[in-house]
Amino acid sequence: MIVGGDVGGTKTLLGLFDAGPPEEERHARPRIVATHSYATSAYGSIGEILDEFRRAIGRPLSVQAAAIGVAGPVKGNAAKLTNVSWDISASEIAAGLGTTRVQVLNDLEAMANSVEVLTSDEMCVLQPGAPRADGSAAVIAAGTGLGQALLYRVAGRLQPLASEGGHADFAARTDREIELVRMLRERYGRAEVEQVLSGPGLVNLHRFTHRGGECDMLAGVAEADAPPRITQAGLGGRCQQCADALRMFVSAYGAEAGNLALRGMATSGLYVGGGIAPKILPALQTGQFMDAFLAKEPLRELLEQVPVKVILNPEAGLLGAAIHAQELAGRPA
Ligand SMILES: [Zn+2]
Repeated sequence: MIVGGDVGGTKTLLGLFDAGPPEEERHARPRIVATHSYATSAYGSIGEILDEFRRAIGRPLSVQAAAIGVAGPVKGNAAKLTNVSWDISASEIAAGLGTTRVQVLNDLEAMANSVEVLTSDEMCVLQPGAPRADGSAAVIAAGTGLGQALLYRVAGRLQPLASEGGHADFAARTDREIELVRMLRERYGRAEVEQVLSGPGLVNLHRFTHRGGECDMLAGVAEADAPPRITQAGLGGRCQQCADALRMFVSAYGAEAGNLALRGMATSGLYVGGGIAPKILPALQTGQFMDAFLAKEPLRELLEQVPVKVILNPEAGLLGAAIHAQELAGRPA
């Protein structure tokens, strides 16, 4: 048995898996036995969540290895959580699960592990491209924050590499986006790409497109609940400025995905994960996303060859963590 986890600021997912056949190693898909979801802030530590998880499984566990993805920078097999008062460390997980084979991963690094085992019905193709078998890949995921990871091809296999690319500078492409940068600088001191491409980023875009006017869509809505309201109003065309905010979001998302594909030479594939993409799929399919992705002359032709796919499986991060755990289980102790 192996355990995969995905610890976010709001929700923690833990899964018990059967490892795939050892000869196939990480290319095998671990078989899910049970998953449980917990409200992260309702607990005082990962140990408390693991206690609850063991009780929910209801039988003694023999765990060979565990890997847990965390939204934030991982240092020395430990990570600090954003928006939660506690930290997470491999030693706590080891104590909670009775195995020393434990890895704390960045959440996007965990998700990146899943791209090679996801099936075609778990993804939506925005551009088929012409994948290179010797190429690298990349994952971008807007949700509560913006995550990015690269997948380098090493000896024929894709090796995930974590990044904090969501906190890099937002690159404005138009006079209008330069105005947006001015607004973000006034508000935050600098303009990070995450301040545009995330749930809170969508709220910033809403603020920008509604300047000098009110929006009925958000009357009485808490800021945390605002992003889905904006996307619904935008998709349904119920507010022109909300629709405008969503268009700016989609275009900036495509442009940043293109930036990431260029930086990582992701000729094997660019994957769009995270909670927002499946909810705005019709907007991603209008062509605005791909237009912005490809507008990198003189390298348009290179980017036309990159397969671009939206990950639809909401548990891709958990699955990717389990794939990492499976690999740990196969290593000598
Ligand atoms: Zn509106």
